[in-house]
Amino acid sequence: MTDVSYVESKYAVPLAECPNCDHMLPQGLGEITCEICSAVCKITHEPTVQSLISESLPCPSCSTVLVAGTDERPVKMECSACSINFVLTQKTIKVEIDCPSCERQLRIRPRPGTRELDCPACQTSFNVTF
Ligand SMILES: [Zn+2]
Ligand SMILES: [Zn+2]
Ligand SMILES: [Zn+2]
Repeated sequence: MTDVSYVESKYAVPLAECPNCDHMLPQGLGEITCEICSAVCKITHEPTVQSLISESLPCPSCSTVLVAGTDERPVKMECSACSINFVLTQKTIKVEIDCPSCERQLRIRPRPGTRELDCPACQTSFNVTF
């Protein structure tokens, strides 16, 4: 076993805000620790949990349809037909923000806290906070 395949989940866990400091929480379900203020927040989202548990996906090797059976992501899966192992990963959310200088839309992966971005179109640097 050398190459492990990664398959991205179809269902994204919605982004949540820390009720304590209003920054974005790391994407996930269950007990999530705020990276900004260290508050522990319990994130539940029943429709997403149900979608994740019943998510069906084709085996990356033999295309047999498998059911995840858990809301854990990432989770190790084993194909019942061809016995290969692969990892079903969390779907990452991207958000669109406008460059304050040229108003070009940039698609970025949000992360908690403030970071500096460079617009690829006009090279302006600006800060974004989630
Ligand atoms: Zn916080
Ligand atoms: Zn298979
Ligand atoms: Zn720009």
